[in-house]
Amino acid sequence: MSTYFKHGSWNVHCDVCGFKFKADEVQKRWDGLIVCSKDYEQDHPQKYLRVHEDRQDVPFVRKQSDDTYLNVCYMWDRSVYADLASADCATADNTTYTYVFLYTLKYGYTPGYATPAYSFDGWFLPQYA
Ligand SMILES: [Zn+2]
Repeated sequence: MSTYFKHGSWNVHCDVCGFKFKADEVQKRWDGLIVCSKDYEQDHPQKYLRVHEDRQDVPFVRKQSDDTYLNVCYMWDRSVYADLASADCATADNTTYTYVFLYTLKYGYTPGYATPAYSFDGWFLPQYA
């Protein structure tokens, strides 16, 4: 680089390569160094990204309510028969349906038959002779 006069300018050494330049040929880099055009580099643009904090909590919370017991009285529960009725449901003198009918409804098979056609939860049971 030859030494020459340029009106209004002066000589400057590049902070990176050390070569001599005129003052209007160098510029300030992101890290504060005065560098020539070959040594100039942009600061990484993502360095200045600002992200909003992502809130992980929910806007409001409610306590789960306690379980509510619902008493259901089936037909056989309301009857007066000893092994079909239940204590909270039995109605005095309720003999609207026969014992065999209610027993069959409740257990899925007629009393007195050895092998039920269906299990308690409704599955068909194969019959073997
Ligand atoms: Zn340089």
